[in-house]
Amino acid sequence: MNGYMGKLLVVDLSNGKIEDEPLNEDYVRRFIGGSGLACRYIYDMVDADTDPLGPENPLFFMAGPLTGTRAPSCGRFVICARSPLTDLWGEANSGGFFGPEMRFAGYDGIVVKGQSPEPVYLRVEDGRAELRRASHLWGKSTYETQTLIREELGDEKVRVACIGPAGENLVKFAAVMSDHGSAAGRTGMGAVMGSKRLKAVAVRGHQEVSLADAERFAALARQALAAIREDITTAILRETGTAGSLDYSMMLGDAPARYFTQGSFPEGTNLSGSAMAETILTGNYACYGCPIACKRKVKVDKYGLSETKGPEYETVCALGTLLLLDDLAAVAYLGHLCDAYGLDTISTGSAIAFAHYLFEQGIIGPEETNGLELRWGDPDSVAKLIEMIAHRRGFGDLLAEGSRLVGRRYGAEELAVQVKGLEVAMHDPRAMSAMALVYATSPIGGSHNQSDMYLVELGKAIEELDIVSTDRFEIKGKAPVVARHQDWRSFCNALILCYFANPPVQTVVELLSSATGWEVGLDEAMAIGERIWNLKRALNLRLGLRREDDRLPKLLLRPLEEGGTEGHVPDLERMLEEYYRVRGWDPATGAPTMEKLLALGLERVNEL
Ligand code: SF4
Repeated sequence: MNGYMGKLLVVDLSNGKIEDEPLNEDYVRRFIGGSGLACRYIYDMVDADTDPLGPENPLFFMAGPLTGTRAPSCGRFVICARSPLTDLWGEANSGGFFGPEMRFAGYDGIVVKGQSPEPVYLRVEDGRAELRRASHLWGKSTYETQTLIREELGDEKVRVACIGPAGENLVKFAAVMSDHGSAAGRTGMGAVMGSKRLKAVAVRGHQEVSLADAERFAALARQALAAIREDITTAILRETGTAGSLDYSMMLGDAPARYFTQGSFPEGTNLSGSAMAETILTGNYACYGCPIACKRKVKVDKYGLSETKGPEYETVCALGTLLLLDDLAAVAYLGHLCDAYGLDTISTGSAIAFAHYLFEQGIIGPEETNGLELRWGDPDSVAKLIEMIAHRRGFGDLLAEGSRLVGRRYGAEELAVQVKGLEVAMHDPRAMSAMALVYATSPIGGSHNQSDMYLVELGKAIEELDIVSTDRFEIKGKAPVVARHQDWRSFCNALILCYFANPPVQTVVELLSSATGWEVGLDEAMAIGERIWNLKRALNLRLGLRREDDRLPKLLLRPLEEGGTEGHVPDLERMLEEYYRVRGWDPATGAPTMEKLLALGLERVNEL
C-alpha cells in the first residue's frame, strides 16, 4: 500500500491486549489519513452515550500519507476522540517529530481503547509494542516526562507524546505535548489520555514510507520546497515567528484585547515577534522536514528560564493582549507553565481572561476566587490560576471545566467567548467576517485550525480553487468561499500539511498521487475534503449538535467603539443562510440532505 505503512496499532488498556490491524483500504481511499481517516473510524465507534472520559471513547494518534516523507512541512500528526470539552468531535494537530517517528516505527496510527487500572506508557519500536509502568512519571511535567522516558529507554532519539498534571487531573482543555513545546492543544485530548491513565506514547523506528513513484515524488518535493522558500509570508515567519504578525493584527482589530471588549491595546506591541527578536530570543527551530522554522527559543532570566519555547501568536494574545499584559518575559513564562503542565494556551488564557471579566463586572468576587484579586495586566495572579487549573485546586477546579461551564455557573454563559464549548481562537470575527462563519460552523467549535480564512482575508488567496480575498467586512458572497476553503483545509488536515506552508495546490495533490499511485486531481481532492467535512458534521449531529449551536457568543456580536473593527459586526445569520444553501444542508436542522450525502458517497452514515 504505497504512501502508507499499511497498519494501525490497536491497544486496549483495559486488558493489555496489543495487536496490529491492517488499514481499511476503502476508508483510506475515501478519507486519506489524519483527522479524515480518524473520523471515519471513530464514526463506527462512538455515539451520544459515549462518555468522553470513559473507557469506551477511543483515542487516535494519526499520521497522513505524506508524514515522514521528503515533502516539506508535512511532519505533523493529529490526535482525535470525542472531546470532553465540547462533547462533540475532538481534534488537535501538532508539529514536532512524533508523527514521522510513529511512521518509521511502522504505523500510520495508534488507537488506544479502554482504561488502564494504573498509570502506564506505551512504547512502540519498529513494529513491536509494550505497555510499561508509569506510576513514577505520574505528576511530572511534560518536559520531565520526555527526559525520564528517554533516559529509561536509553535512547535520546525516542519521540514522546505525553500529558502533564493537567491531563492527569482531567482538565477539560488539557493538551498532549511532544518535543520542545509542540502542543496538540485543542479540545482536551490530554484529558482523554489522562482518563485512560496513559501518561505517554514513546515511538522509535527505522522503517521507510514506500512511494509509488519515488522519482516523481522527489521532483515534486523539490518544487514544493522552492515555492515555500520563495513565499514572502514564510520568510516573515522564519524571521519573526508567528507573533511577527501581531502589530498588523492589532491594527486590524484581529488580535483581541481585554477579553474581546477593547478595540485596541497599543502596549501589545511589546509582545510582537520583532520585540521578541530584540529582547529574549536566542534562536529558532523547525518541526520535522520544515524549511520555515517558525518556532522560537527564548531565554527568560526574570523567571529563571535559561531556554524555553518562545510564545506563538495565539499564546501572546491568549496570555497577553486578552489579559492586558504587555510584559513579554511574563507571557513567555506563562506559556512555559502551560506547556509544562500540559494545558492548551488558548483555552487557558481565555478561561482566565473570562474570570477577570466576570470579576471586573462584579459577577464574581474574591470569595469565588480563593481570595485572588483579578486585575488586568497582573502576571502573578495569572500564574497562580494556571497552577490552580492544572491541579484543579479551588477556583481552578471550576476554570478547568472550560469557559462555557464557568459562564453557566454564574448565569453568564452568553458572555463566555466560546463556540460549542471551545474557547474562540485569537482572530476576532469582527475584524474579518469570514471568521464568524468559520467559527460558527467548525466541527470542533471556535478554532482557526479547520480553516484559516483570516489569511485569505488578508490577501492569501488560492486562485486555482477560486478562494478569493474580498473586503474583510463584506458578508455577501463569503459563504461559498468559506465552504471551499474548509473543504481544502479538510483535505490538508487529512494529509497532514502545516497551514503555514502553502506550495501550489496542484503540487500538493500531485505529491499525494505520486506517493500512492492514485492520480488524484484537484476536483477529487476538494470532493474528499467536502466528504470529510460532512462526515464530521454527521458525527456531531449524532453526538447531539443542534442547528442553533452554529452561533457566536454575545460578546462577539457587540460592536467595539474604537480600534480596527470600530462599529463592525458581521451579520452571522445572513451568512449562515447562504452557507447552508451552498453546503446542501437543511436550513432548519443544519443536517446534510440525503441528496448531499449521496453525492459524497456518504449515504451509509445514516445507517451506522
Ligand atoms: S511552519 Fe512552523 S509549525 Fe509549521 S511545520 Fe514549520 S516549523 Fe512547524
